[in-house]
Amino acid sequence: MSVSHDAVMAALATVQDPEIFKDIVSLDMVRDVNICGGSVKVRVELTTPACPLKDRIREEVTTAVKKVSGVEAVDVELTAKVRSAAGPKQLLPQVRNIIAVGAGKGGVGKSTIALNLAVGLALQGASVGLLDGDIYGPSIPTMTGIGQRNPQLNGERIIPFSIGSAEAIIKVMSIGFIVPPEKALIWRGPMVHGVIRQFIEQVEWGELDYLIVDLPPGTGDVSLTLAQTIALTGAVIVATPQELALADARRAVRMFQQLGVAILGVVENMSYFICEHGTTYDLFGRGGAAAMAQNMGLPFLAEIPIDARMRQFADSGEPFANFAADAPSRQLLLTLAQKLAGQVSIRNLTKPAGKEVKLEISG
Ligand code: ADP
Repeated sequence: MSVSHDAVMAALATVQDPEIFKDIVSLDMVRDVNICGGSVKVRVELTTPACPLKDRIREEVTTAVKKVSGVEAVDVELTAKVRSAAGPKQLLPQVRNIIAVGAGKGGVGKSTIALNLAVGLALQGASVGLLDGDIYGPSIPTMTGIGQRNPQLNGERIIPFSIGSAEAIIKVMSIGFIVPPEKALIWRGPMVHGVIRQFIEQVEWGELDYLIVDLPPGTGDVSLTLAQTIALTGAVIVATPQELALADARRAVRMFQQLGVAILGVVENMSYFICEHGTTYDLFGRGGAAAMAQNMGLPFLAEIPIDARMRQFADSGEPFANFAADAPSRQLLLTLAQKLAGQVSIRNLTKPAGKEVKLEISG
């Protein structure tokens, strides 16, 4: 008896994406179905290579198709293509998702999280760029080990630096590559608009699944310019758990919401500390940012502990070292990247892109 294509599709329509809660046929994730006698080959296109639930999807597809009459063997191939919710007319059509990383105040680890998100996504197979939008105090040149070095030009266009290994690379751009680190960076409102626009329009980012933008702390002109200039997929808010930091984090959340930018999630950094003997110390009130996220109805992405090696690797400019097999925060950082990728997929499949807002820039 030959296997019916319609019956296989009907079986596939019973499989739900575990994060988006819709079936994989209506989500247009079923790419090819090949039937040869009793053998069925299905290709399912995931919405991100950083999908933590690959094995579960494979298993559920196999089980569902095996139930179809006449099926003897099922072969499931999983591929990934990151989607974009942005319209074709946006400024960077080759960049599928632009994600801002913000914080209420400085020193909470926003740049650290932005950089580790970029590396974590790249290590899972995504093409990733990192734009240091913290133009008042750029720390990405040090944290990436690139330091102060003029980027190469292609005509009028700036080529971002690429760092990494054969395994994965990220493309990086920062004003700190050009301006000496000891020089105070003072920007008036309209200049901010110019430099951010230039970073977006004049840098040759090429095709990217995710462009991570490290914002300055607080609620200033850079965030406003970004929200005005491009369709952001959304923003991630980094906070430490103590109440004093959370009050500012809430303000940052509200600013993005007023700008029409979705909050993709909250990260609690410096959540706790594990000493060399294995005792966990709750220094700043672990769980504070998770409670804030819950109260504000926002996804919570991760609790990242204080990790001395993470600080050392930031100072020595070795971001990939946080992901070495024996690095203490490796798994937490990979999971963080997966959770963010999941939220991006949910956003792109369920909601329209951030709308353009027109606000006056003072300055
Ligand atoms: P921000 O961008 O919010 O100003 P940074 O990312 O520059 O903060 O971090 C401030 C300092 O704290 C840096 O020296 C960084 O290496 C360190 N740091 C950040 N997060 C952690 C962490 N989880 N464990 C240890 N050190 C951290």
